[in-house]
Amino acid sequence: MKFITKTDLSAWIDAQITNCEVVAPIEHNGHYLYEPIQSSREIDWSFTRPILPVKEYFFNPTEQILTFTKQWGNVTIHETLQEDQRIIIGVRPCDAHGLKVLDAMFLDADPLDPNYKAHRDRTLLVGFACIETLPTCFCTSLGEGPDSTDGLDLLITPINDGFIVEPVTARGEGLAASMGWVDREIEKPAPPEMPIIPFPEQGAWEALFHLPIWEQTAERCLSCRICAYVCPTCRCFDIRDELIAAKDGKQEFERIRVWDSCASEAYRKIAGGHNPRKAKAERLRNRFYCKFDYFPSQYGPLACTGCGRCIELCPVNIDICETLNQLAEVVT
Ligand code: SF4
Ligand code: SF4
Repeated sequence: MKFITKTDLSAWIDAQITNCEVVAPIEHNGHYLYEPIQSSREIDWSFTRPILPVKEYFFNPTEQILTFTKQWGNVTIHETLQEDQRIIIGVRPCDAHGLKVLDAMFLDADPLDPNYKAHRDRTLLVGFACIETLPTCFCTSLGEGPDSTDGLDLLITPINDGFIVEPVTARGEGLAASMGWVDREIEKPAPPEMPIIPFPEQGAWEALFHLPIWEQTAERCLSCRICAYVCPTCRCFDIRDELIAAKDGKQEFERIRVWDSCASEAYRKIAGGHNPRKAKAERLRNRFYCKFDYFPSQYGPLACTGCGRCIELCPVNIDICETLNQLAEVVT
């Protein structure tokens, strides 16, 4: 297997920083975030799953997606696609899986999303296998695992005195070619195990729509939207046009895309003021149906990676696994 020491991996990362933007997990008061780094010394190698998924680098919380000018009734549109190369190091397998879910809607559907595609094309993903899991992790229930390579260009697995390097794609082979690895007879460590969470099959969801569980669980929901913002697969957004300059009859606007969430009451409000999901229970139910029924029906993959962030960060302890367990009991 390809083996690299921490010193050599750090030197490789520092060399990349001279060529392109490098993003990696860094620690802030006991929490981790993926952030641009200036030196490999900033990386906390013992990082656990960062608070926000790498989604924020592909589907940005706020992003200018185009600008347009209006003059004497003529409108000219300018694309604002980013092309500079970037490497994200330390991507957890559940986050890479999350990007595959987003790909199904933003890349594989017609029409594709040009801004998302530009970010995907310009970014190389160097994953880190999880050698331990958090109590809220359940990725194996969703068909992936702590050492999955799906969606990554290259996977790095920490072992006692260094790292195993596994290229996954041709782009990952290119990265590995510039690393100072050596061939070593080593066995890849077995991934940590975690409990399997049952959930209803796609066809079973129709029968669950009117259960009291939605009302009961939503009683304590604050509609704060944290669960959506920390989720690697939630992808609802709002679009706004802002005037940025006006001179001599010429107006310049930017069109921005901002994260939104179906947990918010205003999200589903339509012209005329009607709101088909006015009640909290309807919105909470929609979150589950979107992830396990609507999205897979329309695009293929389940829209949950089992990352556990929504469980960890919900201020009122609404636990997706607990609800899935209850629903699975009803249909079995
Ligand atoms: S994080 Fe919890 S309280 Fe906030 S919207 Fe989601 S389920 Fe409701
Ligand atoms: S566990 Fe929660 S935050 Fe993670 S992918 Fe599933 S729904 Fe999203």
